Amino acid sequence: MASYPPDGHVHTQFSWDAPFGDMERTCARAVELGLPSIAFTEHAEFGITTLVDPDRELPDWLSQYTDPDGVITPPALDVEGYLASVARCREKFPGLRILTGVELSEPHWHTRRTAELLDLGGFDRVLGSVHTIRHTEEPGTAATGVREYDAGDAYHVLAAETVVRDYLAEVARLATGSDVFHVLAHIDYPIRYWPTDAGPCDPHAFEEEYRYALRALAGTGRALEVNTRVPLHPVIVGWWREEGGETLTFGSDAHFPENLGTGLREAAAMVEAAGFRPGAHPYDLWRTTRVTAVPAPPRP
Ligand SMILES: [Zn+2]
Ligand SMILES: [Zn+2]
Repeated sequence: MASYPPDGHVHTQFSWDAPFGDMERTCARAVELGLPSIAFTEHAEFGITTLVDPDRELPDWLSQYTDPDGVITPPALDVEGYLASVARCREKFPGLRILTGVELSEPHWHTRRTAELLDLGGFDRVLGSVHTIRHTEEPGTAATGVREYDAGDAYHVLAAETVVRDYLAEVARLATGSDVFHVLAHIDYPIRYWPTDAGPCDPHAFEEEYRYALRALAGTGRALEVNTRVPLHPVIVGWWREEGGETLTFGSDAHFPENLGTGLREAAAMVEAAGFRPGAHPYDLWRTTRVTAVPAPPRP
């Protein structure tokens, strides 16, 4: 199989939801796999989420940040400790290109705190993410008004199609409402949690919503991430290209060393078939090979 593309979305012990993260072991794993480059994009979350079912059994790492009413308050990112760890790893693994980074949750909702964090970090790679959706209940229903749900948790209270539509609408608002990130992470995030009893998830059912979000992102000249936690459907990469998208990155979204690079080579092959190519340097974004004029077919 072909070589690995760069892994542009990786978490370590500095991410609050990665109890088994380990930056140094992740670097060792990257060298072992032959990854050209890696970006440590730790979580920065300024929002507070409320679990739909507060009595749900939670893993230790999550319960320590959750109050009895199910309100989760993520801790702040230790930027200083993180940057010191990256510096140590760069020294220890000189052959590996290590990018600093951060994964911002809904930066368009938290502009002041996001700007303060970015000033502090001087990050090489900034991912923009949606993890929380805002759902507007129809007037006259029991819970009229706007409610926030974790996108995975939302399936407990909303129809599966509604979760995906709400999610993609928020992605479009993120794309147009924030200019601080370089790459849109996991446009298919809610598909990870798609309920099995809802049948297979066909992206064509949401084509209009995907295209709208992709067009909004392409209009800002930024990159789309091919996240491999679930394989991104190739048709979405095709829509990205058709809507004017020029650049792509890859992300395993690994939260522990053993998951690094998972699915990246398969994703690279898929993206290549859709007309994207690596840049000059192994850590560059991948770019479209857009054909500007269709050559005439050869005469028989
Ligand atoms: Zn994420
Ligand atoms: Zn992530």
